[in-house]
Amino acid sequence: MRQRSTPAILVMSMAMFLLCVGEAISAQQPTRWKPHDMNRPRPPLVKPARQNLPVPPPADAVILFDGKDLTNWRSEDGGPAKWIAREGYMESVKGSGYIFSKQMFGDVQLHVEWATPVPPKGKSQGRGNSGVFLMGLYEIQVLDSYENDTYPDGQAASVYGQYPPLVNACLPPGEWQSYEIVFRRDRYDADGKLTRPARITVIHNGILVQDNVEIWGPTNWLQHSPYKVHADKLPVSLQDHGNPVRYRNIWLREISEWTPPGPANIENGPILFLTRAELDRYVGNYQVLEDDHPATYTISRDGDSLKAHFYGGTVIELVPRSKQEFAMRWTAGKLVFDLDGAGKATAFTLHLGGEQRTANRVN
Ligand code: MG
Repeated sequence: MRQRSTPAILVMSMAMFLLCVGEAISAQQPTRWKPHDMNRPRPPLVKPARQNLPVPPPADAVILFDGKDLTNWRSEDGGPAKWIAREGYMESVKGSGYIFSKQMFGDVQLHVEWATPVPPKGKSQGRGNSGVFLMGLYEIQVLDSYENDTYPDGQAASVYGQYPPLVNACLPPGEWQSYEIVFRRDRYDADGKLTRPARITVIHNGILVQDNVEIWGPTNWLQHSPYKVHADKLPVSLQDHGNPVRYRNIWLREISEWTPPGPANIENGPILFLTRAELDRYVGNYQVLEDDHPATYTISRDGDSLKAHFYGGTVIELVPRSKQEFAMRWTAGKLVFDLDGAGKATAFTLHLGGEQRTANRVN
């Protein structure tokens, strides 16, 4: 019997099927590392310098915990927070649940001090586990990672399940440690479509451990969760993971809304047309005192435009707004010329950054 070749249409649909499967897999796994992979390289150890703790809050800070009581916190059900507050710190109580700040926040700079239990008990994720959740969704792991191996995406200062810290800057259990966190929330359009993932920077005991990383979605265990539209402001929460982890001196600053950079602000062209002969009346060398030393600025003509050559070789195009006033095309500054009776420039005053300096023609 003559062997039949596979019809081309079948080959194509098989290829399409494999392509689709491939895409589905890569959509679920935005990293080559699966969550909680023990093969992932361990961040190098860096011993922090002695920190000056507690760090006092600046004038505009919102104080979430000043060591006295839990009035700024609640339980998940809205009732009073069931953690212990005493002697200047609060402590997670096994089975009491996460606690949530009563006030809600979006973009913040957050300062947190924490200490894991002494003597240490348990191992891996069972030793000194808690966590700081931004918007109640994105966890910066709190764990006793001092001589305690665990999966790197779950050690102290990791973005849990996603990014291990750049280094392991953990102090021994019982010692107060600090997180400085800068958080930019995720953003959505009017249809609830993600327009900008959340971003986070973390400094642990004075050492950079998360460098403005793009968070993949809400924190989860075992798997990655997709982003889902939510309110612009949500509580900060702290995790009860069954270990008596302590916190103190928690404060934050709300930071101004992130806005994307706009297009460059440039002049759209001269608002006054000057002939080449007219422009030549400004051309020449001008002398100015630059840090008490005489410096020469040169005005030249390049075709139909004037150029100012400043100290240090910077050349700026000048855009005529009137016969006296020329805007700097790329810079928020201007040159205002003095003209003689014949309309020839004798000096100019540079207006820049709230200061003025006058240069007199020297030739
Ligand atoms: Mg945790």
